[in-house]
Formats: sequence, structure tokens, C-alpha cells
Amino acid sequence: MLTASTDIQFLKGVGEKRAVLLKKKGIDTVDALLRYYPRAYLDWNDLTAIAAAPFFENVCLKAEIITPIETSRVRADMILYKFLISDGTGQAQVTLFNQNFLAEKLRTGREYLFYGKLDGSFVYKRLNSPVIMEALFKGIEPIYPATRGLSSKTLEKLVKTALDSVVLSETLPESIRKRNGLCDIKFAIENIHFPLVRENLERAQKRLVFEELFILQSGLSFLKKRNRGKSGFIIKNVDLTEFENNLSFSLTGAQKRAVNEALADMSSGKPMNRLIQGDVGSGKTAAAAALMYAASKNGFQSALMAPTEILAEQHYQTLCRMTENLGIRCGLLTGSMSKKEKNSVKSALKIGEIDVIAGTHALISDDVEFNNLGLVITDEQHRFGVAQRGKLSAKGKNPHTLVMSATPIPRTLGLIIYGDLDISIIDEYPKGRQKIETYCVDTSYRQRIYRYIKKFLDEGRQGYIVCPLVEENETLDVTPAVEYYEALSHNEFKDYKLGLLHGKMKPKDKDTLMRSFAAGEIDLLIATTVIEVGIDVPNAVIMVVENAERFGLSQLHQLRGRIGRGRYESTCIMISDSKSPDTVNRLKVIKSTNDGFKIADADLELRGPGDFLGDRQHGLPDMKIADLFSDRQVLHNAGKEVEMLLESDPNLKSEENAPLRKEIIKLYSKLNSN
Ligand code: ADP
Ligand code: MG
Repeated sequence: MLTASTDIQFLKGVGEKRAVLLKKKGIDTVDALLRYYPRAYLDWNDLTAIAAAPFFENVCLKAEIITPIETSRVRADMILYKFLISDGTGQAQVTLFNQNFLAEKLRTGREYLFYGKLDGSFVYKRLNSPVIMEALFKGIEPIYPATRGLSSKTLEKLVKTALDSVVLSETLPESIRKRNGLCDIKFAIENIHFPLVRENLERAQKRLVFEELFILQSGLSFLKKRNRGKSGFIIKNVDLTEFENNLSFSLTGAQKRAVNEALADMSSGKPMNRLIQGDVGSGKTAAAAALMYAASKNGFQSALMAPTEILAEQHYQTLCRMTENLGIRCGLLTGSMSKKEKNSVKSALKIGEIDVIAGTHALISDDVEFNNLGLVITDEQHRFGVAQRGKLSAKGKNPHTLVMSATPIPRTLGLIIYGDLDISIIDEYPKGRQKIETYCVDTSYRQRIYRYIKKFLDEGRQGYIVCPLVEENETLDVTPAVEYYEALSHNEFKDYKLGLLHGKMKPKDKDTLMRSFAAGEIDLLIATTVIEVGIDVPNAVIMVVENAERFGLSQLHQLRGRIGRGRYESTCIMISDSKSPDTVNRLKVIKSTNDGFKIADADLELRGPGDFLGDRQHGLPDMKIADLFSDRQVLHNAGKEVEMLLESDPNLKSEENAPLRKEIIKLYSKLNSN
């Protein structure tokens, strides 16, 4: 008798050669085959009239062959069969390629079922290589993703054999199935492959989607708990009154909540591993400063690492300002400081004369030592790899870590993308933030836009023009930005001070340029997306985005976040001539809201999770059946069940939970090897 974990090679009908093909598809066991779900179904009950059938979509037609079957040999190795079919509402021409066996069975004047995609025109519809069945056939057929040497039919046969030869173990506890109205595993697997009726297929799908998201989240819960030894840094009894009184503003509710969540972690005896997500301008730095203050009041050092020198310096200045007169010693460490300066900072760090340090990745160079590093914060984390983050943490003994990200991720996905982090969200802007007016126009407005920009520049304000990078043979070309800069500086903007910023510049030159922009020495910055993660220039109030269709929604939002940071009202103008529905939709969203989370949700809906998951720091298994967007409610429900289950059986030691545990370990090993 086979078991689910038997090597696929030993399933009847497989053999060595097929086993190789199957294993290439990741089907290495009988169980993996049963979990290889059809990519579509051919529902022979779900008929469409030829007249009403959409083009380029699979449809099932019931029609009569109304002409003789015409055979022509187009090449030595290719025979075409052509005939017309009609169902009373319309006609279509069917073409079969080399399907002698099938073609010879067909009879003019008889009715058949045809499954395939129509194309051609409304007066001359075509149906190429459809699946053809006797008209009496009823049922739903699975269609598997096929590859050379492994047809859908072969897979179907093998799955049937597998179903007959193994007993499946239930992965979901009965109580969870009951509460969520889910069928058992046997019914689910049988019906995902061979449903008799739609309703059974839907019940099977419902259960398997739930199961997939349930196992994923259980695995992530384990992941979160792993590597969490003890932390010697207990940060407790923190009274923030003094810190808050020292600020020139009061913290927003969302900032306070994030700070309190982090403080609770840091007093727990276990190392914090938290992400603060907040839109640009939501005030993450102040939250970070509050935590660094708390750490130093408990006698521990803390470090704030930023991806660029300017950001690091800006953080340093902010920290100095926010902790002024509070008895906290701040420091800065960046690569461009002189050796002497660096050395003095390093020795101060080592003997504990600096409490709070801001810096770039210079902080993680080998010769930097801390006295007692208790809290590590990285800003704009998507610029750092996990390894870099880990390296800074390794300078302390299990210090608390906090990651700050300004890239809003849809809430449901955040759970998964940052599976190993607890998440706090700052979803509220400080009061008095200026609104950004957003306009979307086509290129016929260009001259008007230039005049409009000049109006702001003449009032002493500054602005950005953003150009997309052009992708040529996988290298990103900056020429358009360079040419555009040249053109503007000799023509429309020859009386203004222009700057050019792009990704191919040396970090040092970028830094110098940004510094002079921040100092107001440049009026208008022509830039590629490198300004996405940039600095605060409150005097910059206008942004024009060229070829807006080339940017993703979240990217447009990030760019726009560079303006509206001061006391002036700001304007963002998106230029695009594209009329594609996708672009029109995106621009509609960007115009209608400034809320990064709403935009992220819309992005997820428009483009699917790929773009978000593409940024992930650790590989997640591909979803076989669940869709992280359309199944987000199930994701949520499954998450709740995971929580409850792990509370009652944290290590899944009970017998009932053994199969689930096994599945999680399977997933776990995948995550680890990625
Ligand atoms: P983020 O890093 O989240 O983009 P910052 O921390 O740079 O945002 O804050 C943006 C600006 O808002 C800064 O000038 C900061 O001083 C200010 N700020 C932060 N929190 C508040 C608040 N609660 N009330 C008023 N202004 C605030
Ligand atoms: Mg910031």
C-alpha cells in the first residue's frame, strides 16, 4: 500500500522516465501529485451560444457540423482539418491540426460539444484546436498545467490512480472545519480534481484555500517565535512625559500606539522584532526617538541606521533636537566623516559615552563596537538586506530591533511579507499637514505646466520633475533624464538653477547635489526615481511626473510624498498620454486619495500581489490555490483560527494536530531553504 509520502516513481503508471518529468514540476510524492490542482475546468454543462460567446476566452459550445470536413496537407508533417459549425445562433469555422484520430470520428450533420477560444471577427468566427466531445457528455473535466511529455490527460489518469491508492490524513482539526463550514480532506481532494457538479468544486476550493492560508500563517507564527531567545535588555517603567514635553508638538494617537506596542515588547524579556509602517510624513522618526529615549533611560545604547548619509545626518539633527536638555548624548557615524572624527565616535561608543547614535551602514563595519547596544532601528528597511540588519543586531547581545518602512503594504499582505515581524501601523498624519493637490494631464499641457512651475520658483519655492528610467536590454538607461535636463536648462528654464539627479551618479555626487537642493541653491531638480527615499525639503512644493504611466501606483505615491512637507500648499502634476484602462485607473486612484494604505490596496487589486511580494525579504512559497487579494477575508479568518489553535496547543503536540504539524514543517523547510 502506498502512503501520501511515497516517492512518485512508485505510483502505478509512472516509472522512471515520467518520474523525472513529474519531479521537474515539483511533484515528487504521491501527496504532491494530489496537491497538484487543475488550473481550470472544462464544464460541459456550462454552454454558451456562438452569437453570445466572448472572444479569447474559453467557452463551451454545443453545435452541429454543417459542412463536410475538408482536409489539406500544408506541409509534409501537417494536415489541417476545416469545417463549419452552427448552433442556430451563429457559425464558426473550426480548424484542427494533425488530429487525424479525432477528425476521422467526426460526422457532418451531427452535434458535438466544442471547448476552446474564439477569435477572428464577428462575421467570421474561428475556433482553433478545440476539445471536442460527444454531445451527450456531461460533467466537469480537470485541466492540468501540462508540459512536454506530460499531458493534462496523463496527469488526470495518474491523479485517479493516486486517489485510489492512498488514504489522506486530515490536516484541519474538526472544530475549525465546523466553525468555518469546511468539508473534510477526502471530499476536498476528490472534488478539486473530479467534481461531479460545480457546487462540489466550490466546496472543495473553499476548504483548500482556507487550508493553504491556514498552514502558511501557522508556519509564519512559528517563524516569528524562532530565534527569540531571551533579551537581557529589559526596558521598563518608562515615563515619556519629559520626552513629550520637550517636543514642539504632541504625538499623534497613532504614534503613541506604535510607541506603546514597542515598549510592551521591550519590557517582555524577549527581543523585540517589530516593523513600524507609516506613510511618508507620518512621523516615524519621532516614534523612533521616543524608543531611543526609553532605552537610554534604562541605561542602554541605541542605534538608528539610515540608507544614505543625508538621511543619517537628518536623523542625527532630529535626535539632537528631540533629546535636547534630557541628558542624552547623541552621535553620528557616516562614511564620509574624517578618520579622526570616526575614531573619536567609535571610542565614545565603545566606552558608552554615546547613548544614541545615527548613522549609515558605517555602523556595521567590523571595528564599530558598542558598550551595551540594546535597541537597533533601521529606517527605510527595503534598502537594507536582512543580512545587513542582522549584522547590526549582532553588535549587541540579542538587542531589540525595530524596522521602519514608508512603503505601505496592504494590511493583509503585510502579515505575510513581514511574516517574521510584529507590525505597528502609523495611519494618521500629524495635524496641519498640507494637502497635496494632484492633477493628471496629457502632454498638450506641457508649456502651461512649465509656466506654472516658474510661478512657484519665482515665489522662492522649489520643485521636482521626475523622469522614468528607460529599460534597455535589462540595463536602466538614464539618457532621457540627462537629455531632458540639458533641454530644459538651455530653453524653458535657462534663467533658473537646475540640478540633475539619477541613479548612475556616485553616491557622493548624489549627496552633494541633494545637499545643495536642500540648502535652496537649486530651484528645480530633474530626477529619476532616486528621490523616492530622500530627504525632507519643506520648501519643495511642486512635482511634475513625466510618463506617469511608467510608474506603479505605490511608486507614484512615494514620489509625491517628497512634497507637501512644509507649510506651503503643494501641487503634483502627473503627465501621461496613455489612454490604457490600466493607466487611467491608476491615475484616478492617485488623484483621489493621499492615503498610502488605500493606494496599496488599490495597487494590489489592479496588479495582484506580485509587486509587493517581489520586494519580500525572504521567499514565500507560491500559493497553489489561494489568492492573496481576493481571498483576503479567508486569510483573516484563517489567521484568527491559527491564533486560537496555537494558544491551546502551542507546539501542536496533540494527535489530532499531527498532520497539520507535518504540513507546517514541510513549509518551514521550504522557507528556510529559500
Ligand atoms: P516619516 O519618517 O514617517 O516620513 P518624519 O518622522 O520625517 O516622517 O516626520 C515628518 C515631519 O513631521 C517632521 O518634520 C516631523 O518633525 C513632523 N512631525 C512628526 N510627528 C509630528 C506630530 N505628532 N505633530 C506635528 N508634527 C510632527
Ligand atoms: Mg523618515
